[in-house]
Amino acid sequence: MDSTRYTIKKISPLQAIVFTGTISLLIIIAGTAGFFVTQHNLQIQVEKKQACYLDLVDFRGKLMELGFSRNVEPLPSVDRNSEVLHLTYEKLLVQMQQAGLEHFASIPAANENWQAQLTGKNLELFKLELDKNIEKAKIASKDAAVKLVVINEFFLFFILAVLLTLSITAGWLLHNNYRQTLIPLAQLVGQLKLLNRNIPESIHDTAEEMKKELTETEHSSDITQITKSIMSFCGDIEAKNKKLDEIYIRDEKTNLYNYRHFKEHLIIDVERAKRLNDRVSLAMIDIDHFKLYNDTNGHLSGDKALKILANIISSQCRAYDVPARFGGDEFALLFPKTGTATASDIAERLRKIISDEPFLHEEGQPVGEFTVSIGIATFPDDAHDWATLISNADRALYKAKAEGRNKVVFFASMEETQSIPG
Ligand code: GH3
Ligand code: MG
Repeated sequence: MDSTRYTIKKISPLQAIVFTGTISLLIIIAGTAGFFVTQHNLQIQVEKKQACYLDLVDFRGKLMELGFSRNVEPLPSVDRNSEVLHLTYEKLLVQMQQAGLEHFASIPAANENWQAQLTGKNLELFKLELDKNIEKAKIASKDAAVKLVVINEFFLFFILAVLLTLSITAGWLLHNNYRQTLIPLAQLVGQLKLLNRNIPESIHDTAEEMKKELTETEHSSDITQITKSIMSFCGDIEAKNKKLDEIYIRDEKTNLYNYRHFKEHLIIDVERAKRLNDRVSLAMIDIDHFKLYNDTNGHLSGDKALKILANIISSQCRAYDVPARFGGDEFALLFPKTGTATASDIAERLRKIISDEPFLHEEGQPVGEFTVSIGIATFPDDAHDWATLISNADRALYKAKAEGRNKVVFFASMEETQSIPG
């Protein structure tokens, strides 16, 4: 089951900016609308309470002007004004109710007789009550004004808080973008430059480096995706390079090493043997009467026989020996750090195994068997460089052919090898 299906997808910086911006905008719109509605209502309350307060003060003044007093009876000339005052008083009661203020506790009823009731002790009480209500209206209007100031300050604070949150979010996003995107991107570019310079040597290292970075540091999802793609690309190139390397050094038909690789190895091994005063042996192997085999059985049968022979040679080699197809029906077997005796033992065993192997149609061969001849030479005993080593192993091989084939001959055993040619 694909485990990536269960991983939570990280949002991209752009998505985060759009998301945060939208949320902030909605909060600002809702907050501002709420503020204006509340501010408007409070403003009306303040105005109503202030108007009430002023009207109460005005009413009290007019009441005093008309000469109401504890010991003085109202004059008949004030009757008309008193009528107006009565109406004002009635309006005041409604106004106070609308402003949310408490009514007079012991108010005289607002009827025609109210003036008559406002005499003596009653008037005194009414004035006291009036003073109390004036004070209350004053406090209430002051409180409403304070509330208005508080709500204004709160709105200011709210706007500042939203701006601060936005700034912090923007800073965080910038920081994350820098840390998770720009820095990894710069590193990625650096690695790609390095990769471009050192292909194919650095391809494995680059992929490993990217893998390490992906696990050790935090990246944005886009960068993670790009890095993974490059890693997989590196993996593909590495696999293809390995395949190409194999093709470069292998013989297509037999899958043994080709002449190019054999020669590189031979030169290196001879040089090493020179430095370390060591030995390198070389066996040249050639199929006996292979032309006849081809002519009798066809080239496809000849190819099959070549493959079987190559498998036998490979299986008889030690891990560090280098079996190669030299060309045509000739094979080379390089024995690094090996003297003639060991090389001869291996070659003799190989010759015998091949001779014993039941090759298809081998009965058609001159001696009724599919056989090889082998010539062996050793550095530095039989040659002083790699080219002479090949040539002298070849000379031993020709000798094996001349002596009747299906034979191993060492160059050292040949009569004419007193002086090493080459
Ligand atoms: P000798 O015992 O003297 O080596 O005899 P020979 O017939 O093996 O020697 P010769 O060099 O005359 O013939 C080599 C033959 O190997 C000739 C060619 O048809 C055959 N040969 C070379 N390369 C291939 C190959 O890739 N496939 C096949 N089927 N035959 C090949
Ligand atoms: Mg041959």
